[in-house]
Amino acid sequence: MFRLLKIWCAVLVVGGLALPAAAVLKFSNSYYSSRNKERSVRSSTSLIILHTTETSSTGSALRKLRDNGECNYFICPNGVVYRIIDHRRVAFHAGRSMWQGKTNLDNHSVGIEAGGFHNKPLTRAQYQALAELIGELKYIYKIPDHCVLTHSQVAYGVPNKWHKRSHRGRKRCGMLLARPEIRALLNLKSRPLVDPDVKAGRLVVGDVYLANVLYGSPSQKQQAVSYINAPDSNLISSGRSAWDIARDGYNASTTTYVFPNGTKKQGHQIADFRFLPSGTRVVVGAEVDNPAEHYQTIGQQGKAQDIAGAEVLLNSTIYVYPNGVYKRGHQLTATDVLKLPYGTKVLLGYDVGGPISTAKLPSQICGGQWKSADTYFLIAGALMPGNQIDDKKIPSGAMIFYKK
Ligand SMILES: [Zn+2]
Repeated sequence: MFRLLKIWCAVLVVGGLALPAAAVLKFSNSYYSSRNKERSVRSSTSLIILHTTETSSTGSALRKLRDNGECNYFICPNGVVYRIIDHRRVAFHAGRSMWQGKTNLDNHSVGIEAGGFHNKPLTRAQYQALAELIGELKYIYKIPDHCVLTHSQVAYGVPNKWHKRSHRGRKRCGMLLARPEIRALLNLKSRPLVDPDVKAGRLVVGDVYLANVLYGSPSQKQQAVSYINAPDSNLISSGRSAWDIARDGYNASTTTYVFPNGTKKQGHQIADFRFLPSGTRVVVGAEVDNPAEHYQTIGQQGKAQDIAGAEVLLNSTIYVYPNGVYKRGHQLTATDVLKLPYGTKVLLGYDVGGPISTAKLPSQICGGQWKSADTYFLIAGALMPGNQIDDKKIPSGAMIFYKK
């Protein structure tokens, strides 16, 4: 197996001027994922993406990351670096993501999870290990400092109850690691000063506080960080919605709403998030950091407009009718959209390939992405996720829907 370069310390000794010797990284393979064999080797690597696990339980974080193959490395609070997915292979860590117009960044990045929280400092041992690991990866892949990003910088969400447009701010994962003083600890000397996708109009800001932490003036940054760390920051108020607190976990079954009278409901049991009483406490449970983006269903998750917002008529919005026929948004009129039948499945931000034939294999259409959990095959009127399909049983004529 290819190992990270061991000559790194030697690289630091330049012309007889010995810089402080970097400690040797301590690696462990004890949580190496069995999913390595099913993950393709990336054809390009232009980013390093940093995450925080949002749990203090190292054991449960490691098991989840290993079982789902959700990162390339995990850095323990004691500084030990666990190899999860070979750094050359695709790990499912970024989910729906965009940077400079490029999407599906799992295919272009190494993902590093740090055991800890997006708004709390990591340990010194973690910063040291992160700095060294990032240094090695930058060297191997020729990645400049400003291409080392946090998940919160690259994750984006499709329209939902809170936002009519695709937006930045789906996650705050890794947020503090984007702050200049932390980047200095990681030996990162340059950073993005603006969000390129917001600037270009591809996305809107979906989390003002996150945007201020990442790109605001020094006073905006300070204000935002103190706001996030405030002890009552999980209480709903006139200025703080369920979205502000739980992000895209607002309607998850793992998010609990404790009302002022003490009664509780889970996110998926709440019909209207606009009328939650002030003082409702939102407890965001441990959730899969990067669940596969699944389709939504008209009737279950609302009307087409609730699901697709401003993207309702785009060609990247795919509607799969209950009878198995599919249409792209631009093939429909606003009136057609109102008449979409109950049970129509809606895929947002997707491209269409196919039909599959011996001359047009799934891998030729979208590379290794064909077997992702968020790629779907339309077979006999049903949508089958790529990670559950036997490649020898994909019938000729099947269509494939994959994230752009
Ligand atoms: Zn993350």
